[in-house]
Amino acid sequence: MRDGRLYLDGVSVVFDGFRALNNLSLIVEPGELRAIIGPNGAGKTTMMDIITGKTRPTAGTVSFGDRDLTRLDEATIANLGIGRKFQKPTVFDALTVFENLELALKAPRDPWSCLRWRLSGTARRCIEAVLEEIGLAERADHRAAILSHGQRQWLEIGMLLMQDPKLLLVDEPVAGMTDQETEHTAALLRRIAGSRSVVVVEHDLEFVRALGEKVTVLCEGSVLSEGSIDHVQNDPRVVDVYLGR
Ligand code: ADP
Repeated sequence: MRDGRLYLDGVSVVFDGFRALNNLSLIVEPGELRAIIGPNGAGKTTMMDIITGKTRPTAGTVSFGDRDLTRLDEATIANLGIGRKFQKPTVFDALTVFENLELALKAPRDPWSCLRWRLSGTARRCIEAVLEEIGLAERADHRAAILSHGQRQWLEIGMLLMQDPKLLLVDEPVAGMTDQETEHTAALLRRIAGSRSVVVVEHDLEFVRALGEKVTVLCEGSVLSEGSIDHVQNDPRVVDVYLGR
């Protein structure tokens, strides 16, 4: 199922009579990097919650490859290879960068137990490949506590990569980053996509431009516009409700 296509088909979510998602349909092709933008309250977080099984749709279906995710629980969906990175990084400050990645590979119930495990050669190679990928190879032995905000975000993306996801959902990765860190993050996500699909929710339009891929604009729980960043930025409906020019 490496070639999973994400398909939300007519998804609605109603909270106490309020329609957070309204007949939302969205397709993300295998290997695609997709940015999701939209005003506050548009339904972006709810959409991510629906994909990961945190929230159940009131109507509609969600599938990934040939699997129907609509009624599956969060753990089962995660085990199908769908990883999610929340805005706030959750790395272990007391551990080194390498140990954080090692922990993610083992994903043990007791986070400390894996430190006593001997790494197999394969595991070490896998960690080293991810260290290169996220640009932290030279900081492998640094404690996470001393990393910059951007480096912590990359480490957490690396921890997700250790699980070899087929689809990675990333929530506002560049909030609070310097321009240089933002550029690094765009390059990292571009590298990651291709061998896996990536869906990024983000407010920073310069970052979305740097991703250089298709953009979906959500508004009031459904798709308002879709296409290149230039296309959506010039779409009068998007200007009206989101960009406010
Ligand atoms: P976004 O991430 O685009 O800002 P959200 O998905 O967080 O939007 O929210 C969409 C709408 O649904 C908002 O109006 C929000 O207040 C509402 N909403 C989200 N979760 C709940 C909930 N658990 N109960 C009631 N309303 C909710």
